[in-house]
Amino acid sequence: MSRYFQPHIDRMAGYVPGEQPRDGGFIKLNTNENPYPPSPKALDAIGRALTDRLRLYPDPVATNFRETAARLHGVEPDMVLAGNGSDDLLTIITRAFAGPGDPVLCPTPSYILYRTLVELQNAREVAVEYRPDWSLDPAAFLASGAKLAFLANPNSPSGTALSPDSVSEIAQNFDGPLVVDEAYADFAETSCVGLVARHPNVIVTRSFSKGYSLAGLRLGYLIAQPEVVAGLIKVKDSYNCNTLTLIGGAAALDDQEYLAQTRSKILSTRRRLTNLMRSLGYDLPDSQSNFVWCTGGPPASAVYQSLKERRILVRLMRYPGRPDGLRITVGTEAEIDRLEAVLRELLGGADSPKVW
Ligand SMILES: *Cc1c(COP(=O)(O)O)cnc(C)c1O
Repeated sequence: MSRYFQPHIDRMAGYVPGEQPRDGGFIKLNTNENPYPPSPKALDAIGRALTDRLRLYPDPVATNFRETAARLHGVEPDMVLAGNGSDDLLTIITRAFAGPGDPVLCPTPSYILYRTLVELQNAREVAVEYRPDWSLDPAAFLASGAKLAFLANPNSPSGTALSPDSVSEIAQNFDGPLVVDEAYADFAETSCVGLVARHPNVIVTRSFSKGYSLAGLRLGYLIAQPEVVAGLIKVKDSYNCNTLTLIGGAAALDDQEYLAQTRSKILSTRRRLTNLMRSLGYDLPDSQSNFVWCTGGPPASAVYQSLKERRILVRLMRYPGRPDGLRITVGTEAEIDRLEAVLRELLGGADSPKVW
């Protein structure tokens, strides 16, 4: 059958998401889900929406949702576009701006989905390496001649974030749409939403999967100039967000108090997890997200495997030309208690069984 596929699709490996084990009993610290439940107000709103109204198609442009998001960010509703997860928005953006052979700039190491989206378009990935301190050379953006650029900020796997000033300099230095993927912005000190007014080429994407504990709902949105949003609406599926999702998402956005509570718990556990991993010999940049990135300590792949045998899942990340690393999601205090106990048993004292 493979000969029937377009050659560039046939060649693709396809994106491989983090493991989602079907049997329970794992402590899941591998895909950066939020360990706390979603806002009760969001769940209530979804419950109340389970009515006869589901006979009808959802609002194609999510009017109520985009008004809520616009209010929160102090922008106009026509600067907001909702997506079936922010991955849907990244797909829409790539389809809109990148055609066969077009160069698309992807900083590396970063979110691996960008490359998959580029491959789907038969476009060409131009990789720009992060410097050792996780900064980027703004001049590389201009020099790339790319038609589109992605920037995960905060980045994954590093968890680090460029300042809005640095991103502004990049936007200035780039002649094309610059996607600032803020999937983790709810855990960061800064955001680049304010740059959209000054730089018409900046598109900021947001997700409900991390900060809002709603990965299963599938919702994200982007903020861009009205002209950009209008163009992207032509590319999206007519009904790309379902009625329940839009109602739940608007209610979650309206419950900023709940977000602040779960956020502050995660930031506090993040400090603890950072100290723990540093004490075990790993190098960790300061994280601005809900995970930490550990390299340079005890061998990542052996530790990953030993943790998995003890039913703790973390993410083993391998990037060509770089040492393997462990990306560990900030869980609840109890989950990190368990991780700590297992790691100390594996790595802690001179008499502990070594995993390698
Ligand atoms: C998790 C993640 C996303 C995906 O978000 P969804 O809203 O679940 O599609 C996008 N970008 C980055 C960098 C992520 O880590």
